[in-house]
Amino acid sequence: MIDVPKRALVVTPHPDDAEISCGGTVGLWTSQGASVYYVLCSDGGKGTDDPGVTSEALAKTRHQEQLDAAATLGVKEVVALGYPDGELEDTREFRRELVRAIRRFRPEVVVCPDPYRRSFYYHRDHRITGQVTQDAVFPYARDRLHFPEHEAEGLEPHKVGTLLLWGAEESDSYVDVTAAMDLKIEALRCHKSQLAGLSGENVVTWLRGFCREAGEKAGFEYAEGYRKVEFRTS
Ligand SMILES: [Zn+2]
Repeated sequence: MIDVPKRALVVTPHPDDAEISCGGTVGLWTSQGASVYYVLCSDGGKGTDDPGVTSEALAKTRHQEQLDAAATLGVKEVVALGYPDGELEDTREFRRELVRAIRRFRPEVVVCPDPYRRSFYYHRDHRITGQVTQDAVFPYARDRLHFPEHEAEGLEPHKVGTLLLWGAEESDSYVDVTAAMDLKIEALRCHKSQLAGLSGENVVTWLRGFCREAGEKAGFEYAEGYRKVEFRTS
């Protein structure tokens, strides 16, 4: 079981990844008084097969879709970094932005994609988001002399206690999202430009099946699963 944190930060590579992977957890936590924040790393501007849609237009649509989905889940703020879809890199600039968000929102828990998979392939942006987030949490956000310019903005170093990694090969921690399943579906429905591409079948059936499968491993009707990494905070 994972306790409800007071403050949590979700780092999502594209608009819609957070709702698919941890939307139930976010909805559950905010309904129990948690303050949850998002960092949206890329603009999602490659997510279409429609030859009549440009990346610029799609990015604008998807930004609004992400704001709508986050509002549905009770997320307090979405910080959009605006990197082009498919072009996330492990750079100092990206790391600095994630460290800034951690120092600003001061989460106990950070939620992001698991960067490490061997048995099945993964979108490059997810892999890099997971990797850079993990580095930002530890040790960069923790240590004062990394990105000292943040102090001039009034931001202090911050120790995150727990990382929850979604999309892990083997989850070891589960959140019972049975009570938040309808909210998760409502949030995913905000990503109108993506619904057709998300599954060959009905998106609701697909999403329920995905969470039911995780639930079976944990003894819940519906669950979201994570690999948990813990850090010393004192
Ligand atoms: Zn994605």
